[in-house]
Amino acid sequence: MDLHGKKVLVVGLARTGLATVKFLKKKGAIVSASESKLEAEMKEVASELGEMSISLEWGGHTVSQFLKQDLIILSPGVDPALEPIRKALDKGVQVISEMELAYQFIRIPIIAITGTNGKTTTTLLIGDMLKEEGKKVGVGGNVGDPLILFAEGGEQWEILVVEVSSFQLEGIDVFRPRCSVLLNITEDHLDRYSKYEDYIEAKSRIFKNQGAEDVAILNWDDPIVMKHEKRVKAKKFFFSLKERVKEGGFFNGEEVVLILNGREETYSLSQSPLKGIHNVENMMAAIIAARLFGSSKEAIQRVINRFRGLEHRLEFVREIEGVFYYNDSKGTNLGSVIKSLQSFQEPVILIAGGKDKMTDLHSLKEWVKSRVRRMILIGEAKERMARELGSLTDTVMAGTLEEAVLLAYRMAKRGEVVLLSPACSSFDMFRDYKERGKVFKEAVQRLSTKSEARNPKFETI
Ligand code: ADP
Repeated sequence: MDLHGKKVLVVGLARTGLATVKFLKKKGAIVSASESKLEAEMKEVASELGEMSISLEWGGHTVSQFLKQDLIILSPGVDPALEPIRKALDKGVQVISEMELAYQFIRIPIIAITGTNGKTTTTLLIGDMLKEEGKKVGVGGNVGDPLILFAEGGEQWEILVVEVSSFQLEGIDVFRPRCSVLLNITEDHLDRYSKYEDYIEAKSRIFKNQGAEDVAILNWDDPIVMKHEKRVKAKKFFFSLKERVKEGGFFNGEEVVLILNGREETYSLSQSPLKGIHNVENMMAAIIAARLFGSSKEAIQRVINRFRGLEHRLEFVREIEGVFYYNDSKGTNLGSVIKSLQSFQEPVILIAGGKDKMTDLHSLKEWVKSRVRRMILIGEAKERMARELGSLTDTVMAGTLEEAVLLAYRMAKRGEVVLLSPACSSFDMFRDYKERGKVFKEAVQRLSTKSEARNPKFETI
């Protein structure tokens, strides 16, 4: 791709956008950038950009700026359905994601991971398993470094492991991973996609350019993934919690059995610190990918035995008087909350709610009924959630997350679990899911004496 002298607009100026601007400048493009946030909210980026001579737009996107470009590059969080982007497309301007741009300059194999849930965990697992073997691995995309940083200095790396979102997949043209992983597809982001079908379509674009020399790793148990399986031209490997697969991995209740080219080997999960049946799925996908790309069985087993999981994903916080507190602030959709509930045999006091994504709560019903002893709802979505789920278990509402924690503390009996797994995003009350998780953990850490929990305010329904 020749960028010299081309008018290129970068949309979105967080870490990836900034790295993209720098890359384009080096390639001799005439660069502009457009960001929805105000300059005052992004002081550090603004001061770095101020030193480069580029045309900048803060606090929104104007159509005229988009129409005069030769090429538009979208940063990972940018919705391709934004009006100025659609207008530019109508006029014939090429619009691609940062991932597509980076891909056109990357010469090493890419393992790309997508799905509604588990992307970050699986990406890091695969990265660790390959590193453990001594491979020079770059980890990029939504987690780790922006992909564009790998577009130069290629000899430092021999393989890239990349977390890929559906927005980025919408903006691909020739992007072709050597290995694609599709973990699951459940309803999410209906606030951004007008149809569930569009979201599914975006996810399955990961296979679009793959050929017979490539590989694809797919969730055998996921009906929506399997509906699209026939379209996959790459060599297919499956993973399953339920059934023995021909090529790939399955869980026999104790170990992961891997079958590659007819050869079988087993991996023990008995030492794994990762909680949750969904993490067995993530580990199976990771084992297949890492083994196919050169990790030894021993290296993989060492990573399984020590990988502790990530903050805010079913993260154990503390035990108080026989009650176990878990922070799953990243549980922002129903698929992840269901998996979290399935991970406990103990009765759960569930703290949920937040910014409403308007997803259909139907699939959560049986799990609330069977696993949740009490539910405490917070945030913008609390009324709707109470209306649709409140009759299934004892339900109360709280004004803040801190109040919810105090309430949970008062209600919990020895042997129970208090779980924050909101099924919603956090933007109604917090900067992001990380801040929400931090507030939860701090509130739990403050629960040292019963006296603190004497008078929390709450509204019953
Ligand atoms: P992503 O990067 O796709 O958001 P994460 O690894 O950050 O995935 O996990 C996000 C949420 O989904 C957490 O609540 C986590 O416990 C849950 N989760 C992780 N893996 C899976 C999976 N395979 N299926 C369902 N839920 C999962």
